[in-house]
Amino acid sequence: MKKRLRRKKKSYKRLFILPILVLLVVLLGIIAFSQLTKTKAPEQQNARSMSQAKSVKEENSSEKSSVATPKWLSAKNENQLPILMFHYVTSDEDQLPKDSNNIDVTTFENELKALKEQGYTTVSAADAQRVLTTKEKPSNKLVWLTFDDGSVTMYTRIFPLLKKYQMHATSFIITSFVDNGQGGILTWEQIKEMKESGWVDFGSHTVDHPDLGTQTLEAQRSELADSKADLDKNLTQKTNMICYPAGGYNQNTLDLSTELGYQYGFLDPGRNGAVAMAAKESDGLLTLPRFRMMDTTSAEDMLQMLQPAATYNEQNN
Ligand SMILES: [Zn+2]
Repeated sequence: MKKRLRRKKKSYKRLFILPILVLLVVLLGIIAFSQLTKTKAPEQQNARSMSQAKSVKEENSSEKSSVATPKWLSAKNENQLPILMFHYVTSDEDQLPKDSNNIDVTTFENELKALKEQGYTTVSAADAQRVLTTKEKPSNKLVWLTFDDGSVTMYTRIFPLLKKYQMHATSFIITSFVDNGQGGILTWEQIKEMKESGWVDFGSHTVDHPDLGTQTLEAQRSELADSKADLDKNLTQKTNMICYPAGGYNQNTLDLSTELGYQYGFLDPGRNGAVAMAAKESDGLLTLPRFRMMDTTSAEDMLQMLQPAATYNEQNN
């Protein structure tokens, strides 16, 4: 009797153990499955963000400047952006007088080649402004190519090379020179064609190119306001860059520039106490320093100007 009872107890036990075992196996299966889907989730997310990036890229590639949009890096602190100041790029055929601002076309092309070989990113005005006002950057090796005075060589010599090397530049226009059809100066048609290409952006270099620091408040106001209105109208843009002629400015210039809607101002190295160094937001967006490029500046000299900012940006990741 006792024995039978024990056996009965044993079979009860077996009856209980079986469902518990089944339950355990099912539970383990559920846990394993949930782990699997957990590890899969980020992959799916990545695929989603990649397809988003792809669609943004596709939108961007409809622009005429066809440089692939790089994945922007983020920095710990503010970025440094070296800005190079050029004027004219000429060839013997142009028969222009020798001037330290007249850079030979071969010298200039060697500089662009050096930038390409060393992996520098030439920024558009919009990208430059993003680099200066955020902690984002398309690369650590950055350079902003700027050209003063709106010489016709911007169209005849510089623009073809920008397209050849897929590089961005910004040109500062003296608006009365264009309006008066002055010789050796760009026409509105050329300016519009370059802007539409996506490779060249345009800012103001005032109406008549006076040293603003020596002008009355009202004269400064019309130089700043009228040149902006002219560029805004002809290029259907909101001009927000002002390059002070001969680097001349005073506090009135900065106040008026802000009042009129300029956000970025460009200095001449060596003028008005301006030092040749990389630009950064904390030094003031209306007083951006630049490096002067002359006929004697070699590609090697240029790379040396850019190196400190590239090193800083590299360490600032
Ligand atoms: Zn100038």
